[in-house]
Amino acid sequence: MPKVSVAMRSDICSQAAKFLSEHGFEAPPLPPDQALQARKLEVTQLSLDDLLIKAHLPPEHSKRIQAMLDTQERAVTFRNGLPVQQRNWGSLHEIGHEFLPWQSQLIYYCPLLMLPLNIQEQFEMEADVFAAEAFFFGDRFAKYTAQGDWGLATAVDLADNVFETSLHATFRHYVENSEKACCLLVWRPEPKDGGLWIPGANSMMLQHYIKSPTFRGHINPGQIADSDDIITKVFCDTPNKVVKHTMEFKRNTCDTLVADAESYSNSYNVFTLISQPQPIKPMVSA
Ligand SMILES: [Zn+2]
Repeated sequence: MPKVSVAMRSDICSQAAKFLSEHGFEAPPLPPDQALQARKLEVTQLSLDDLLIKAHLPPEHSKRIQAMLDTQERAVTFRNGLPVQQRNWGSLHEIGHEFLPWQSQLIYYCPLLMLPLNIQEQFEMEADVFAAEAFFFGDRFAKYTAQGDWGLATAVDLADNVFETSLHATFRHYVENSEKACCLLVWRPEPKDGGLWIPGANSMMLQHYIKSPTFRGHINPGQIADSDDIITKVFCDTPNKVVKHTMEFKRNTCDTLVADAESYSNSYNVFTLISQPQPIKPMVSA
């Protein structure tokens, strides 16, 4: 799996800052439609599926693609019915492909989908870093986060009232830039018969997690929080509220670690932010 190196990340940060200043975006929020206009990129009403058929991609690869950029025509085509938050993110992601000079020079002559798979994956990650740096205004994100207490409540406030970005994107950026060791767990209702997601579910499944740079450990995705678990209760009973709790983790050596945690449900996901788990201290009797 390719990675974005520290040097490359710093180049992308400089390019995102250049993009914001060249086009007069001085403070958040960054309106995605204005960003596309600034780059003179037109959104087409073409069918993405039709375009992908012409690209002769295997169906499983096509399904994952949500938008397509044509640098020669200066056009972006989104998948029909794409949720607004994904479309917003996709706008800045496509601008990333178009603005990062080493990408645009190559893509101009050879469409992204024709490049070797490892280069495509590398470019996709770089475009996401660009989108995050643009939406969260580079270093300014840290200044905004420092104004609130550390935790999900501050991240929710930044998403809703400052950056107007999705909770998922904001929490991810918050954790990836946290100096404190922490990890974000993303839960969804457990799929039932035939893999369907059931609203009001009585159990939740861990989808994936995002670690801060200094967090140590691995948490198996796929694990279930059942009906009497705090994660499921947060989902069913207290949407749009940060709930503080603790989480226990069993280690192979059979001892138990405990982490401070807080969870937030937006009625689709539960997001749980945990600190670095620590061994439980034995009770000391007097
Ligand atoms: Zn892309």
